[in-house]
Amino acid sequence: MNVKSKQVLIIGGGIVGACCAYYLQRAGHRVTIVDRQSFGAACSQGNCGYICPSHVLPLAEPGAVGRTLKAMLKPRSPFTIKPRFDLALWRWLWGFARRCNRQDMLAGGHALHPILESSLSLYRQMVADEHIDCEWEEQGLLFAYRSAEEFEAYSATNDLLANEFHLPAEKLVGPELTDREPALRPGLAGGWFYADDAHLRPDRLMSALRRLLESRGAVIREQCAFEGFVGEGDSRRAARCGGTEIAADEFVVATGAWSAQLESHLRCRLPIQPGKGYSLTMPRPAVCPRIPMIFPETRVAVTPFESGYRLGSTMEFSGYDSTLNRSRLQLLRDGAAPYLREPSCDPVEGEWWGWRPMTYDSLPIIDRAPIARNVWVAAGHSMLGLTLGAVTGRLVTELISGQPPHVPVAPFRVARFQ
Ligand SMILES: Cc1cc2nc3c(=O)[nH]c(=O)nc-3n(C[C@H](O)[C@H](O)[C@H](O)COP(=O)(O)OP(=O)(O)OC[C@H]3O[C@@H](n4cnc5c(N)ncnc54)[C@H](O)[C@@H]3O)c2cc1C
Repeated sequence: MNVKSKQVLIIGGGIVGACCAYYLQRAGHRVTIVDRQSFGAACSQGNCGYICPSHVLPLAEPGAVGRTLKAMLKPRSPFTIKPRFDLALWRWLWGFARRCNRQDMLAGGHALHPILESSLSLYRQMVADEHIDCEWEEQGLLFAYRSAEEFEAYSATNDLLANEFHLPAEKLVGPELTDREPALRPGLAGGWFYADDAHLRPDRLMSALRRLLESRGAVIREQCAFEGFVGEGDSRRAARCGGTEIAADEFVVATGAWSAQLESHLRCRLPIQPGKGYSLTMPRPAVCPRIPMIFPETRVAVTPFESGYRLGSTMEFSGYDSTLNRSRLQLLRDGAAPYLREPSCDPVEGEWWGWRPMTYDSLPIIDRAPIARNVWVAAGHSMLGLTLGAVTGRLVTELISGQPPHVPVAPFRVARFQ
């Protein structure tokens, strides 16, 4: 199909905005990206780098509320909610609690499954076609356990993932775990290995995408915050950003955790809460893992890059709080120490936090905004924004170009929250 070339303004220069720009350019459109801070400097910078189709189940699952409350009572819990009167937060928590049942969990999983699978293959193709230097590796993802009870309890989830989504993990018992990943301490109970997951270095991906987009004519304007749309009726003709008007045919709002602040501009509810997480980046330890790993008992994630090594995780619902809390960083070290022969390596090169754009159903929002026919939302990617960047970019491009979406988009409509 021949697509008419359009001028598209993308608001937000994270992985979602960058991937939208990539696929829009490939379809022949011209793009400008504005960011209130710097391109690639928010949540898409220091995350764990997993491209993980294995993460198909939403966070809201049967028993999640009880488990979360129990975890919060522990003095140094990786999960915290700062108690406060915030109507949007309480509405969000209520929405989450209501979805903690098998039926909604499976519906969410079936919505996510095709976009997760598609995104992995789109990244593979993007990295190969464009020679993107982002330390792409396909080493899988390993969940490692100390406690035999917790390890065996995962069997039920494994059965569910195998039966519902054809995503069986390989079970590694006792020493089979250290045979597979010698950087682990001996004596752990076991692990579950997902062979098809990949990983990359997110900051390198963002820099490479920026070079690529600019080399193809994209304009990137930083320190340039979106302030409102210009125009009336069923379309908008420009957006006011950083005190100037930028004209465009189409507008894509990809503002991550900030998106909820733009509800009035889009005329819809966007129940997105900032879910703060932390990471520590350092040189590769002498005994460095080969496989990225998650330790579900302490909720710490480990990513070995070609050029470094990262510990990441924790989830804090503390609103738009931009302080770096060193005790949360210490949790990462403490949570990795029981599992790894060499859990960290000095000097620390980066202490980082980011706001995950959390929806209560764990599904992104990829849809036209009710305000006008040429305004689109691509936000709320929760824990999976890096993984889902490529497929979101492709879907937004298909919608703007008037082409049929290559995977179902109905579950990602904004109307589900209205
Ligand atoms: C510790 C941690 C580990 C993670 N690990 C993974 C992982 O392994 N795999 C994975 O898939 N996901 C992971 N995530 C989640 C992932 O990082 C996010 O889902 C993703 O980065 C969100 O991308 P985004 O483009 O929507 O938002 P962002 O990267 O936050 O970008 C949004 C941009 O919009 C800009 N903006 C906001 N408001 C305005 C405005 N008014 N005008 C102009 N610009 C504006 C911001 O400045 C920002 O640059 C992790 C997150 C954390 C915190």
